[in-house]
Amino acid sequence: MRQSVYIEDLDAFSYREAVAQDSALVLIPVGSIEQHGPHMPLNVDVLLSRAMAGQVAEELKALVAAPVVYGYKSQQRSGGGNHLPGTTSLDASTVISIAKTLTLEFARHGVRKLAFLNGHFENYQFLYEGVDLALRELRLAGIEDLKVVLLSYWDFIDDATIAELYPDGFTGWDLEHGGVLETSLMLHLYPEKVDMAEVVDAPPAVMPTYDVLPVRPELTPASGCLSSAAAATAEKGVTLLKRARAGMSAALTSEFGLAER
Ligand SMILES: [Zn+2]
Repeated sequence: MRQSVYIEDLDAFSYREAVAQDSALVLIPVGSIEQHGPHMPLNVDVLLSRAMAGQVAEELKALVAAPVVYGYKSQQRSGGGNHLPGTTSLDASTVISIAKTLTLEFARHGVRKLAFLNGHFENYQFLYEGVDLALRELRLAGIEDLKVVLLSYWDFIDDATIAELYPDGFTGWDLEHGGVLETSLMLHLYPEKVDMAEVVDAPPAVMPTYDVLPVRPELTPASGCLSSAAAATAEKGVTLLKRARAGMSAALTSEFGLAER
């Protein structure tokens, strides 16, 4: 039997054997292709959600599905906006459809424990809708024992960690786009993909508390980042990853009644 937590590395027979077990939990990483400033690549959200899912899966003896690479449109107040070249996004109906289809596919494989691990702020509500539609369809077909958890990794960074890592004040997760959180995690997990010399050290973006369409491009800093990544370090990445991983593992263990390992 081939061994990997990543489903796409397995042969079909090893995969079938793995999901045939009652306790099989499948994690689906969901990212985006989105500008992350001049210092990081477009696929940060894919890389981070997939790597975190891999670590959680090691801990919980779970499996990681091939990631959803594209995500919902970048919003100006949380990702700089969808007007920026490089950012390549899906319509909401497509994201809903992907989440619904994947839920139905894994249900067809026999999986009854499923989790979407989201790495892109704007995806969340559309993943939720897709899962809800899939569960409705499955119920009509008499399948009622599939449980799905949706989570975004930054929701597991607690206040104590925020106080520790942001001694000069925390601007909020929405303005963290391309900032200390993502850059520190990338410096820890994929240092070769980050160029700290390119970081634009500017004050956090000032956004209105409402949206305007079409967007006013001048509201987004030229760097595309909504806060500075200058204070990012690999050490902060270690802490962030540790806390997020522990929080996600605990939530999944509790929700799915997994045995402590
Ligand atoms: Zn991101």
